[in-house]
Amino acid sequence: MSRSVSGHPISGNDRPSKAFRAGRVCLEDGCGTRLSIYNNGKFCAQHAPMAVPRTRGRKIA
Ligand SMILES: [Zn+2]
Repeated sequence: MSRSVSGHPISGNDRPSKAFRAGRVCLEDGCGTRLSIYNNGKFCAQHAPMAVPRTRGRKIA
C-alpha cells in the first residue's frame, strides 16, 4: 500500500514575481539612478524616452 503522493519538494519562492524588481538602475550610461519598482521602464524619469516633454517655445519654470 504505497501511494506515491505526487510530492515534489516545495521549492521556496523561486517563481518570477510580477512585481518589478527593486534595485534596478537606469540603463543610461553613467546615470545609475535607482528605478522605482513601479517604474516598468529601463530608464529613470530623466532618461526615459517618453518622459521627455517637448517644449514648444514655452519656458517651463
Ligand atoms: Zn537615468
